[in-house]
Amino acid sequence: MSALIALIKGECPQCRDGKVFTNKATNLRKFKNMHENCPSCGVRFESEPGFFWGAMYFSYAYSVASFILIGFFFFKLSDDVNLTHYVLSVIIFTLITSPLSFRMSRLLMMYIAAPYRKYQKPKA
Ligand SMILES: [Zn+2]
Repeated sequence: MSALIALIKGECPQCRDGKVFTNKATNLRKFKNMHENCPSCGVRFESEPGFFWGAMYFSYAYSVASFILIGFFFFKLSDDVNLTHYVLSVIIFTLITSPLSFRMSRLLMMYIAAPYRKYQKPKA
């Protein structure tokens, strides 16, 4: 359960203490800036060159899910769905949530696919 909380908080997958991103998701100019290494334990986040290309699959799945959910919402809301309203809603929703999607995709990629060792607390 603590891995899920650390993922949501954007913390390092190895030590679950250091932040992965340098700025908040609400900072629209710098939301994608990451630390190269964990500020707490020093693990390198990009475990190999091009590692984060795989995050696009998570982003794609998120986009498809949001298209389906918005379509379902429109279908339930009205019998006569206006295609223009649907397309505009999808575009606006995708743009508004893109920083969150970007960050969550990278974090999921790190938590699921990266070969980080399971963190062991140092003995005091
Ligand atoms: Zn760390």
